[in-house]
Amino acid sequence: MYPDVTGRFAPTPSGRLHLGNLLCALLAYLSARHAGGRFLLRIEDLDAPRCPRRLARQAIEDLCWFGFRWDAPPVYQSERSAIYQFHLERLEAKGLIYPCFCTRAQLQQQASAAPNLGDTQWVYRGTCAHLGKEEAARLSLARSPALRVRVPDEDIRFVDGLQGPQRENLARDCGDFIVRRSDGLFGYQLAVVVDDALAGVSEVVRGRDILSATPRQIYLLRELGYPVPRYYHIPLLTDAQGRRLAKRDRDLDLSALSRRHTPQRLLGMLAHAAGLLEEDRPAELDELISLFDWSKVQRGDLRLPAWL
Ligand code: GLU
Repeated sequence: MYPDVTGRFAPTPSGRLHLGNLLCALLAYLSARHAGGRFLLRIEDLDAPRCPRRLARQAIEDLCWFGFRWDAPPVYQSERSAIYQFHLERLEAKGLIYPCFCTRAQLQQQASAAPNLGDTQWVYRGTCAHLGKEEAARLSLARSPALRVRVPDEDIRFVDGLQGPQRENLARDCGDFIVRRSDGLFGYQLAVVVDDALAGVSEVVRGRDILSATPRQIYLLRELGYPVPRYYHIPLLTDAQGRRLAKRDRDLDLSALSRRHTPQRLLGMLAHAAGLLEEDRPAELDELISLFDWSKVQRGDLRLPAWL
């Protein structure tokens, strides 16, 4: 464990920030500041064409509009390939990495034969796990491989600060997973853990949709010899009718909302929906820092008010 609290917000700016991002930024910020800790911003633009710099700048502007401040210049994943490569080589040196030549069609075929584990997760059957060196060299003449990390047949356990005890057997429930794609892009799991570890992040606050990726990240941290942060996977938002928000709900992104409402109105509304404020009223970030308490934060989906 790290001695001091360091929190972070790590958006993927493939569109304008929406209320789900804002809730995440808010809880991550309040948790870190309430503990007297540091708060960092990381732009997860690994997939650079999908995340143009213009959207990252917009995200930063939006966060500033709400009054968020961070304690170091923002980190951009798109500029950190050499760091990810270094860590990949550390895993390689431990014999944990192998090339995978499976095509998308082959993977889809395997997926349809595998148990479906919810979201997009399915078990990789280890088709390429035992290729000999020569066979791999021959195949790489025709196709550049993805790189996978071998996973153990053991339960990875952790206690999520909001969602409680979790466990997953990576070999059974996930299989060897990709750490570098065949087009050279580094996998999200590797980038996240390397960035968090190097920045000394001690608590990770993010959407519940990422809960299922956490055991893979804990495994990578362990193999790289880094401490495991405390995790809080926060609820997802629904509209007033209880329907999950989707990225396509353009009227709930900040371009529309910031024209209709003040930052204090939106912050107060989210703090109320999350369980931190008793009434739905405008609130300043500073006021919310002193009120913050994880035990007040709801675990289940959070319903947004109809007035939005
Ligand atoms: N970039 C991810 C997102 O925007 C969050 C990753 C994380 O917080 O670990 O959903």
